Amino acid sequence: MTTTSIEIICIGNELLIGKTLNTNARWLAKRITALGLKTHRITIIGDSIEEISNALREAIQRNPHFIITTGGLGPTFDDKTLEGIAMALERKLAIRDQALKMIEEKYRQYVEEGRMERAELTPPHIKMARLPEGAKPIFNPVGTAPAVIIKHDDITVIALPGVPSEMKGIFDESVAPLLKEAAGEVTFFETSLDVTGMMEPAVAPLIDRVMHDNPYVYIKSHPKGEETVSHLELHLSTTAEETDLAKKRVGKALIQLSELIQEKGGKVKPVKAKS
Ligand code: ATP
Repeated sequence: MTTTSIEIICIGNELLIGKTLNTNARWLAKRITALGLKTHRITIIGDSIEEISNALREAIQRNPHFIITTGGLGPTFDDKTLEGIAMALERKLAIRDQALKMIEEKYRQYVEEGRMERAELTPPHIKMARLPEGAKPIFNPVGTAPAVIIKHDDITVIALPGVPSEMKGIFDESVAPLLKEAAGEVTFFETSLDVTGMMEPAVAPLIDRVMHDNPYVYIKSHPKGEETVSHLELHLSTTAEETDLAKKRVGKALIQLSELIQEKGGKVKPVKAKS
């Protein structure tokens, strides 16, 4: 089974100065994993055309199936994502009628709702409809700026807005179905084991052994609280073609790990199971 790979590029100076927490990356990574795909890298960069272009070119060299960017699609001067993408892919920017219609429709709606006086399109509004050649706009059900999808050889580049509610709305409505189709019939399954009475270095060789015996299962230890306090969460996860198979694999590893820990005097308690 080959996993469909994704890179995420989060764009915004506010992320680099610590003003905004990168919740978009965490949300996307969780969703992507749950859909059975693999996020290989998350990059954060500032609002600079060159930085965006360089980050995209570097990601393209690693040849992921999808590259998802967030941020920088709005009407203001510092929203440079589409220019950066155009530079990286060597495409011209041009006003796309389909995108302009989406924006016009949004402004008509805002006037109807009394949120704006006139639905007049100004140059900053028109800027959101300037897309790289070959790109298609994706309807934004929450805000104004359309998202953008563009194919580059075998790689699909998707540019989503930075505002979390807009990013999530577009992802769920238009991106998740694409990713699901690309991933095919795969399921992600995860569960956690709460371990007390054993320190992380003592548990490490047991994890190695269980991962060796269960090559499809990934196990990661997360110390809870102080390093000197013996309390760990062990997270077990796998991706498989069928839910039952994924559950069976994780279940087998969980039993073996629990037994090994108990043999060494540790206490175990299952935390939660999700599919
Ligand atoms: P807009 O149309 O509102 O301009 P945009 O795509 O241009 O959207 P940005 O201007 O980059 O998005 O960001 C809008 C807001 O979304 C920022 O003020 C920030 O608070 C938030 N935001 C941006 N990126 C992220 C992120 N990675 N995680 C969480 N919040 C983010």
